[in-house]
Amino acid sequence: MSDFATRLLEWFAVHGRKDLPWQQPKDAYRTWVSEIMLQQTQVQTVIPYFERFMKRFPNVVTLADAAQDEVLQHWSGLGYYARARNLHKAAQQVRDEHGGIFPATLEGVMALPGVGRSTAGAILSLAFDQRHPILDGNVKRVLARHEAIEGWPGTTAVAKRLWEIAEDNTPQQDVAAYTQAIMDLGATLCTRSKPTCELCPVAADCVARGAGTVTVFPGRKPKKDKPLRATTMVIAKHDGHVYLERRPESGIWGGLWSLPEIEGDDAASWCRERLALDIDDVESWGLLRHSFSHYDLDIRPIVVRVTAPLSKVADNTGATWHRLDNELPGGMAAPVNKLLDKLRNGTHD
Ligand code: SF4
Repeated sequence: MSDFATRLLEWFAVHGRKDLPWQQPKDAYRTWVSEIMLQQTQVQTVIPYFERFMKRFPNVVTLADAAQDEVLQHWSGLGYYARARNLHKAAQQVRDEHGGIFPATLEGVMALPGVGRSTAGAILSLAFDQRHPILDGNVKRVLARHEAIEGWPGTTAVAKRLWEIAEDNTPQQDVAAYTQAIMDLGATLCTRSKPTCELCPVAADCVARGAGTVTVFPGRKPKKDKPLRATTMVIAKHDGHVYLERRPESGIWGGLWSLPEIEGDDAASWCRERLALDIDDVESWGLLRHSFSHYDLDIRPIVVRVTAPLSKVADNTGATWHRLDNELPGGMAAPVNKLLDKLRNGTHD
């Protein structure tokens, strides 16, 4: 039997994905953006975002020079916004420290915000055919099954073992094709549930398959109950406008536009004191639950209709009265978008 890489490369030559938008044309910038977008998002979802992103930011310098609001707006809907903020910062680093040329060493790429060892290896192998192993979620699954590596890959010992296997399997040549091949195998055949082992090029010596224990691998993260947090969002509205604030850079939804959050539920007092506005009426909507990876957030939306003129509070402190039927001022967190849709459509519970 030929080695792991040879079989994967033969399979890739026939079945691999070779016409994804970031593969044609292929360069380090496009590869990097696609790898960051693909970190927590499926290929089919990423494709239209990637195409819009490239149209607006065709190279690393256009991205570096853009306003953060515009970058976040092009990311709106992809989630995990720290990825977009890091992408923007990293582009500025490439412009300022590398003369606008994407770095071509592992250290140089790993020094960019938001790029870990696996992503850096993927960029360098895919764009420059350099020999670096990768270990993203798909690859962890393939290797953990093929070698029947027990335990959760989030632990140092399991990750170390998987990196060693990844290193051993990475060929000396055709690294770009191999990297794409192993990612494709994980995404198309060796899927999380119901893998298609009968079509898999490395099935003959897959230990988990031989033992009938494929779905046991990789080991699951020990379960912990997610904590539940609560917040109140104020929907201050007046004559087709709603009051929006830009969130601080750090913390959840950093840099995105949002409804103001308050402690407690006295939205009317907040509007009087903070916005110096008179109140017409106040209405509470049902709770909206939003799930983050580490906790759930229950949002209590309170709509406050204000009576005073708007000009008093429009300022340049990162707050605005936004006309509901106008284009949004920047990136918007998903639950805030939902609430604004309800407001526009007049549908709520
Ligand atoms: S045989 Fe099945 S479990 Fe093993 S690597 Fe191939 S697809 Fe994955």
